[in-house]
Amino acid sequence: MVSPQQAQKILYVEDDPVCRELVRDTLGYRGYQMLLAADGRSGLRMAQAERPDLILLDLGLSDLDGLEVTTYLRGLPGHRKTPIVALTGRTQAGDREQALSAGCNGYIPKPFSVNRLPDQVAAYLAGHREYLSQKEETKFLRAYNHRLVKRLEDKISELDQANEALREAHHAMQKLDKMKSDFITLAAHELRTPISVVHGYAYLLTTRSEGNYSLSSEEMVQSILQASGQLNKTINDLINVANVEVGEIELFLSPSQIDYLVEAALNELSPLSQGRHLSIELIGLGDLPIFEGDLQQLQQVFWNLLSNAVKYTPDGGQIRVWGRQVEAMLEVVVEDSGIGIDPKNHETIFERFTVLEDVLYHSTSTTSFMGGGLGLGLYIARGIVEAHGGRLWVESERYDPQQCPGSKFRVRLPFAPAAAPSRNS
Ligand code: ADP
Repeated sequence: MVSPQQAQKILYVEDDPVCRELVRDTLGYRGYQMLLAADGRSGLRMAQAERPDLILLDLGLSDLDGLEVTTYLRGLPGHRKTPIVALTGRTQAGDREQALSAGCNGYIPKPFSVNRLPDQVAAYLAGHREYLSQKEETKFLRAYNHRLVKRLEDKISELDQANEALREAHHAMQKLDKMKSDFITLAAHELRTPISVVHGYAYLLTTRSEGNYSLSSEEMVQSILQASGQLNKTINDLINVANVEVGEIELFLSPSQIDYLVEAALNELSPLSQGRHLSIELIGLGDLPIFEGDLQQLQQVFWNLLSNAVKYTPDGGQIRVWGRQVEAMLEVVVEDSGIGIDPKNHETIFERFTVLEDVLYHSTSTTSFMGGGLGLGLYIARGIVEAHGGRLWVESERYDPQQCPGSKFRVRLPFAPAAAPSRNS
């Protein structure tokens, strides 16, 4: 039979679901109305909204500590006298005293006895209360206060750190936003210029009879071919960036000769760099052993490095490409006598969309001095080298467009990429 006394409300705050169910069933069976909360904050909310007759509280909650919940409740007018009983697995020496000094009426250690729990609860509801001696109370209260202040301090420093992280994230977002706007400006320029060439010359060719032009038809067709090649390269770069981003560079491995690769990249670049009066020297590449690599992708790596060397070296400068064997790796260095790179940017230049120069300097030409590009070349180059299991990095003393200290881009490739994905393997 459920007596009116047993129909009282009990709030149980406990984060362990099994324990919650057990207590709910044990006390619910005795006719108590059970309210359950899984953490300290929802416990506080329920205590204020439901005004339970007794609160059973786990002390080791995940958010607010059970002692803190007690202290907070004791400060509310509606809960100064509500019996709050710690039902806890904290059973070290001093845990009981700490619970009582924080404001609990009683303390039931876990594992509790299912048989005795209803009687214990009934006693607390009837006004039973455990007391500490004055001396104990002062001692534990002091320790508890100290702990509270320490928790507060920790929280404040956590908040400070979170604030700092937010500030950094905000700064990174602003940087990304600027990179995005610059990229859109550059990409539009990079696409629009060759399209104008293709469109312009195609138009002139169709209306040939109407005018006398300084260029022959063959020359116009050559310009169209060159511009469409440029468009193709830009689009390939965009696709390659997407592939590097998701780590999906597919390698078609075959026996490769490094001098062949570098020369092929150079041949592609030479017609474009005519008029820049640069001396380009290949040293000792023919002596290096054959290795396994993706010819087309590695040619792109050297094209990117060489076109950068051309772009960032003033007229009359020197570019040297030399290689050697370093243990089980093949090392190729692309060295220029150009403007150099500040050490603080040695890593950032390998990030997507990083262009150190002002966007205003941008030129669609892949070889004009300091022409700048889309800021994708090094990101793609490193992605390809790493897909081979190799490394690519830069060495340069400083950025100095007057004195031109130069830069060295070092590529290291294994002779046989171990885990590189390949259709041929
Ligand atoms: P982009 O296509 O714009 O040249 P990259 O990813 O190839 O982009 O290069 C990123 C940036 O690194 C360039 O904008 C340039 O500032 C710097 N950089 C690359 N290579 C060199 C070099 N050889 N000398 C000086 N700066 C360079």
